[in-house]
Amino acid sequence: MIQRSTPHHGSPGNQEITLEPGVFYVCQRCTACCKWPGDVRIEEDEVSKIAGFLDLTEQEFLDRFTRLRTNRQGLSLVEKDNHECIMLDGNACRIHPAKPAQCAGFPNKWNFPGWRQVCEAIPVPCDP
Ligand code: SF4
Ligand code: SF4
Repeated sequence: MIQRSTPHHGSPGNQEITLEPGVFYVCQRCTACCKWPGDVRIEEDEVSKIAGFLDLTEQEFLDRFTRLRTNRQGLSLVEKDNHECIMLDGNACRIHPAKPAQCAGFPNKWNFPGWRQVCEAIPVPCDP
């Protein structure tokens, strides 16, 4: 059994998402969401875009950078031994322009109870 040293913060499948109409949270690139344990979900229609961005065939990308999700219902990016996402390079995402919807959607499209304690995104007003 895998021992997790830090909490697992879920995914877009969470049922306890809190969204705030009229507020947009601007990412400060603190990289916390690239470092906590858990799946980084890849949807089927994201494989070709990410593989192409990395100049790999889809099979090369799947073999080198993906694994089954914890629930075995789809694919996740693999992680480093320290739980960081395999795509995190220093403070930058190697696939930023092609990153998965899970990454692009946090925290404005999905989040979890207590997310503001672990994310440095700054709220700004926006059209609801
Ligand atoms: S935890 Fe929040 S501020 Fe930090 S990189 Fe992720 S979305 Fe951006
Ligand atoms: S794909 Fe990029 S943005 Fe998403 S968790 Fe990995 S390093 Fe972070």
